[in-house]
Amino acid sequence: MKIIIIGGVAGGASAATRLRRQNENNEIIMFERGEYISFANCGLPYHIGETIKERDNLLVQTVKGMKDRFNIDVRTKNEVLKIIPSEKKLLVKDLNKNEIYEESYDKLLLSPGAEAFIPPIPGVHSKNIFSLRNMSDMDKIKGKVDSGIKKAVVIGAGFIGLEIAENLIERDIKVSIIEKANQVLAPVDFEIAAQVHEHIKEYNCELYLEDGVKEFIDIGDKTKAILESGKEIIADLIIMAIGVKPENKLALEAGLDIGVTGGIKVNHFLETSNPDIYAVGDAIEVKHLINNKEVLIPLAWPANRQGRIVADTILGIRKKEYKGSLGTSILKAFELTVSATGLNEKILNRNNIPYLVATVNRNDHASYYPGATPLTLKLIFSENGDIYGAQAIGYKGVDKRIDIISTAIKGNLKVWDLQEIEVAYAPPYNSAKDPVNIIGYVAENMINREVETFRY
Ligand code: FAD
Repeated sequence: MKIIIIGGVAGGASAATRLRRQNENNEIIMFERGEYISFANCGLPYHIGETIKERDNLLVQTVKGMKDRFNIDVRTKNEVLKIIPSEKKLLVKDLNKNEIYEESYDKLLLSPGAEAFIPPIPGVHSKNIFSLRNMSDMDKIKGKVDSGIKKAVVIGAGFIGLEIAENLIERDIKVSIIEKANQVLAPVDFEIAAQVHEHIKEYNCELYLEDGVKEFIDIGDKTKAILESGKEIIADLIIMAIGVKPENKLALEAGLDIGVTGGIKVNHFLETSNPDIYAVGDAIEVKHLINNKEVLIPLAWPANRQGRIVADTILGIRKKEYKGSLGTSILKAFELTVSATGLNEKILNRNNIPYLVATVNRNDHASYYPGATPLTLKLIFSENGDIYGAQAIGYKGVDKRIDIISTAIKGNLKVWDLQEIEVAYAPPYNSAKDPVNIIGYVAENMINREVETFRY
């Protein structure tokens, strides 16, 4: 069988290696239009900031490695231009030779990812405006940073925007962040985001909320961002980080079904509307695990998981369902860590789903043991004990609390089951009652009307 994969990074590379491990005889070709495969997208901001010093450390797997170890025919700088499903073939452009050729397939996997959303703002194509998706974007941004620039503007305060802002500040660049919403980080609710607002200001980072950019004007080697509020900021470097949209062009032109969110429509087995074409990663629409609604979850865990299980489906070994995503996410914002899983209040309100909220403020470990730091944990749940989501912010131990709750949701645990999670405890690591246990007690008390709570 001849299997072709479009996209050689998270979902594509995971699928390719699993396909080979499961079968030594199939022909596997992986097309990647960029220069590299299997690079660590998530590490890109940290090389700009020089926390990750060696650029090569971002290259998790190479073309040679894929060939030598897995016998996979990897064709970098080869862009698939068109899928012709009726003939089961592709048109591919070899960007090295500038030549177009055809390739046939028996089974085709799409993992083309997402592209940065660039709004049609006048002046947005200035030479000083960049987005960060791949190694080449990173090289360009780092090149500018290394030239000794002093001022940057980051448009968009999502995960990538904040990571870039932090890393630019690490390089002694003054940063202004512009965000259209009234808060940073859409996956968390306002009171959690508000702690980030205060924190980033301590690092001399300007934050403009509820404001957008009206126009960019180049002035010599700098660019002026004119905001909707009238404020003007002149910078050496502008990063557009207002979000991504699924790379659905190939699928759309091939007549595959596209979902309501713009992602490629797949079923639980990651099969598209064409029986020989599969799709994974940022490019697809998935069901949210809590409310079964169609969503885009452009994160690395789903892409890797989907890449692995789709390989087995393609090979017909066993069909494993991708049950849906929770959107579990985490961010380092200077000293703070912010993390979330499941649905937040904004989404529940938008969908008219009633809910209760419990919030506890504890320490990450026993307060009498040196170095304890505050941690806020918020749980959102239903009157019958279903867990809808959780958010946490603090200096240490945030990840483990959210990971426990995400596991609890996957295991269909109820809020009172959180009381029973037997955690590892010694004073340097925890308290004998973990914040997750405590929030389980609070939630049950609320459901049983044993305590009265108020929110403002
Ligand atoms: P990608 O990994 O983006 O791979 C798609 C590849 O397909 C691209 O290399 C593209 O060049 C190629 N391609 C597209 N079209 C074609 C074509 N026609 N022909 C040939 N090749 C094509 N996620 C997290 O969970 N945590 C993080 O901390 C995190 N940080 C991130 C930081 C940055 C800066 C970025 C950019 C992303 C980050 N992500 C993070 C998101 C995560 O990287 C993605 O969710 C994941 O890589 C998606 O995998 P994918 O296979 O769908 O797409």
